[in-house]
Amino acid sequence: MEFNDIVLTCSDCGAEFVFTAGEQLFFHDKQFKNEPRHCKQCKAKRVRGGSRARPETRTNCSQCGEETTVPFKPTQGRPVLCRSCFKQQTAQPGAIPVPQPRPEPALQQPRPEGD
Ligand SMILES: [Zn+2]
Ligand SMILES: [Zn+2]
Repeated sequence: MEFNDIVLTCSDCGAEFVFTAGEQLFFHDKQFKNEPRHCKQCKAKRVRGGSRARPETRTNCSQCGEETTVPFKPTQGRPVLCRSCFKQQTAQPGAIPVPQPRPEPALQQPRPEGD
């Protein structure tokens, strides 16, 4: 089977792009039925913009009490710092002002008694 470069039009931005023989061979190999519909730029944009939903959680800074958002789910019992406190803390290594509460297991495993 022989392939020739063909020019396709991006369905997103309307730009023409080349669907190269090599890519066609790849598609044929993978048994992809559809031709690519987006140019490389738009494809890259889609990949980057795909996981835009960053989990931002509202919480209060353990140090100053300011409301802040963190890009992760704060673990119970773990101190969460706002940006400025975090910067302060990382600015002076060695001085960690936040008391680290020891995570106490809430549920105790019943110990099998006797033997
Ligand atoms: Zn495009
Ligand atoms: Zn703070």
